[in-house]
Formats: sequence, C-alpha cells, structure tokens
Amino acid sequence: MSEVSRIAIVGASLAGLRTAEFLRRGGFDGKLVLIGDEEHLPYDRPPLSKEVLRGEWEPDRLALRRKSYDELELDLRLGRRAVSLDTIAREVHLEGGESVGFDGLAIATGGRVRKLPNQPELAGLFTLRTLDDALTIRDALKKASRVAVIGAGFIGAEVAASARQLGLEVVMIEALHTPLAQSLGSRLGYILQQVHERRGVEVHCGRRVTAFLGKDRIEGLMLDDGTDLPCDLVVVGVGVEPAVSWLGGSGIELDDGVRCDATCRSSVPGVFAAGDVANWYNPLFEERMRVEHWTNAFEQARHVAASLLAGPGEAKPFESVPMFWSDQFDIKIQGVGRPRATDELIITGGTAEEEKFVALYGRAGRLVGAVTFNQPPKIIKLRRLIGERGGLEAAAEIAES
Ligand SMILES: Cc1cc2nc3c(=O)[nH]c(=O)nc-3n(C[C@H](O)[C@H](O)[C@H](O)COP(=O)(O)OP(=O)(O)OC[C@H]3O[C@@H](n4cnc5c(N)ncnc54)[C@H](O)[C@@H]3O)c2cc1C
Repeated sequence: MSEVSRIAIVGASLAGLRTAEFLRRGGFDGKLVLIGDEEHLPYDRPPLSKEVLRGEWEPDRLALRRKSYDELELDLRLGRRAVSLDTIAREVHLEGGESVGFDGLAIATGGRVRKLPNQPELAGLFTLRTLDDALTIRDALKKASRVAVIGAGFIGAEVAASARQLGLEVVMIEALHTPLAQSLGSRLGYILQQVHERRGVEVHCGRRVTAFLGKDRIEGLMLDDGTDLPCDLVVVGVGVEPAVSWLGGSGIELDDGVRCDATCRSSVPGVFAAGDVANWYNPLFEERMRVEHWTNAFEQARHVAASLLAGPGEAKPFESVPMFWSDQFDIKIQGVGRPRATDELIITGGTAEEEKFVALYGRAGRLVGAVTFNQPPKIIKLRRLIGERGGLEAAAEIAES
C-alpha cells in the first residue's frame, strides 16, 4: 500500500469522478480534492448527441452519480480551472490564485473540441462537447430547417442522425473518402454512409469546406469542388485534442496527451492520467494509444485509482481492449479492439444490406478488432477473445453463432 495521504484529481467528469469513487472503494481515507472547470456536477456525455439533442432527455437524467456526494468526503471544486502544475512543490494552481497540494495526482482533463482553421464566429455555428453546448444546439435546432454537419466521425454522424430524426434536412460533409474511414476503414465507412443516405442525409465525402457564408449568421457553406450548400445551422465535429495546455512547463511529458507508461503513470512519479487525455502504452497491442471512448475512461479510472494506492513498483499494466458504442438512427454500432484500415476484414453473421452484421479485423491471423451493427450480444465475447489474443477462426464462430 502506498503512503499517499492527499490526492488531487483534475477534471470532474467520467474519468475524474470514477477515480475518486474507486479510491474510496479501495480504502483511501485521506484528503481527496476533485477539481473541474465546468459548473455542473459530473454528467454523462454520450446522450448529448442523441437523447438530449432530440429533446427526449432533460439534463437531470445525465448525472454520473446518483448517490450522495457526501459519502465520498470530497473537497469538490467545480467551476475552477487548473492553470498550471508545479511537480516539484507538488501543487496544482487554480485560476484566481489558489493552490492545491498533493502527494498523488490523477489527470483526467479529457479533450477540447478542435476547430477548423478557417472557422469564423457566426451565429448558428456550433461545436459539441459539453452539456451547455448540447442545450444551445437543441434550442437552435427548433428554429432550423437545413442543418450541415462538418465531420462524419462518431459525434458528427450522431448529430446528423439526431437532426434528421427531428425531421430536418441534413447534409454531412467529410474530408476523407467515407465516414469513419480512419477508425473503421473505408468499407465499413461506406456502409455507414449508406445507412445515412437511405434515411435522407445528403453526404459529401472527400470534400473540404472552403468558406462559411453569411455575415453575422451562417447562411451556407462552400465546398472545395465549388458546391454551395445553403444551411441555417452548422455543427463542426472534427474531433478533439487532449486538454493539456495547463501542463505546459510542468515537466510532465506530453505526446498527443499525457505520455504514460503501461501502468498509466506519467513521466513524474505519483502522477497518473485516465480517460481521453491519457496516452499510454498498451502491452496487449504493443502500441501507445489514446482512446476517446466512455468505457476506457471508466476502466482506466479504476486502474489509476488502484495504481495510486499501490506501493512502489506494485502498479500493474493497463492491458485493455478498447470498446465503444454509437447509436445512429435505429442502428446500434459497437466496436472492440484496435482496428486499422490495413487489417484483413471479414463481414459475417449477417449482411450490410440487412444493416445487421459482424465485421472482424485480423492481423497475421489474430483478431485485433470487431465491429457489430445491431448485434449487441456478440461484442462482449469478441472483446474477451481479443484479450486472449484469439484468432480469426474462433471469432468467425462467435459471429456466426
Ligand atoms: C457528444 C458526445 C457523445 C459521446 N458519445 C459516446 C458514445 O456513444 N460512446 C462512447 O463510447 N463514447 C462517447 N463519447 C465519449 C465519452 O463521453 C468520453 O470518452 C468521456 O467523456 C471521457 O471522459 P473523461 O473524463 O476522460 O473526459 P471529459 O468527459 O472530456 O471530461 C474532462 C473534464 O475535465 C474538465 N477540464 C479540462 N481541463 C481542465 C482544467 N484545466 N481544469 C479543470 N477542469 C478541466 C473538462 O471541462 C471536463 O469537464 C461521447 C462524447 C461526446 C462529447
């Protein structure tokens, strides 16, 4: 057991709150400070692009903790931004001049939305990361008639689906040749494009936005092939970057997020990272990764809590099979592993036309990833198989069962 008696956690969302909860569950009875720059109590983000945008859920359904916060005996600092970290004095500095000392620190600051280089400030032009963003877009959707979504990654595609489900005209623009080409490869990307097109979304792939039209308010977009797309609401969904600007000059090594070893420890002893901000070496895949999905934030928080409580040299590697889900229209997409566009791809257990199938990704005969469309029960078995370094043949048996 470690000797830490003061733990600070920066970032009060999924990874930060779960780290606090797992620390208490693991027997930590020292001082615990949770610092977050949003005013809201920790809430869940996945419904923001789905039920919240469609007006089906109110914010009170998003609470990440249903039990009382008193039980956690937390010093909870909401609406407080960490502006710098002193790894020698072991203090987090907050906006306004206050400092929080620590023996152990968990960095869980997640990601901030990226903007396009030519993106202006115009009414009707939005990005989506926070509850406040989602509520603003939800209100704007009520007055909109033609919505454009820039970026057909998971969030962009979910926003496009939600807007279409609200009965609006929707156009989705993607710079790559298909939606999700980078994460799932172009074959699956094209299947997803067809899912959207069949439901009335106009999809433009392989195109960039060269101009945002309108003086004070968005009126349209110009694409690089000269296409002029009139619209009255735009959501830019071109990804996130890890929220690490406050760590500049701290001595914490950064490399597309907080660079961690296999145990999720940063370059500074006693300082760990969890969730969207953590870039760690995953021994299972023998590569570094940073994963921007819910399940990773949850599981990595549990791991970091255990690592903070472990004695010197006792922390274990975080050998994890990444997992995600995405709900678009009536399609539940689930994925596990680490697929690459260059992997061998087998589609089985159904067909793309039925919009119900299992896609298996193989590398040298080993199963490295799987994606299911409307086949929820199979994904857990496939995840386990990837964790056991199983082969494609065994995966095909599961997919076809
Ligand atoms: C709209 C949306 C839909 C999603 N849908 C899905 C889905 O369907 N399936 C799925 O698997 N995943 C989904 N995700 C991803 C999932 O929500 C994230 O992986 C998860 O929220 C990561 O949690 P986190 O705690 O690491 O980071 P975050 O949730 O980003 O939280 C980080 C927190 O730290 C705060 N912070 C940042 N910098 C500072 C600072 N300097 N000082 C203090 N506080 C700071 C931030 O404001 C934020 O509150 C979705 C995400 C979004 C935005």
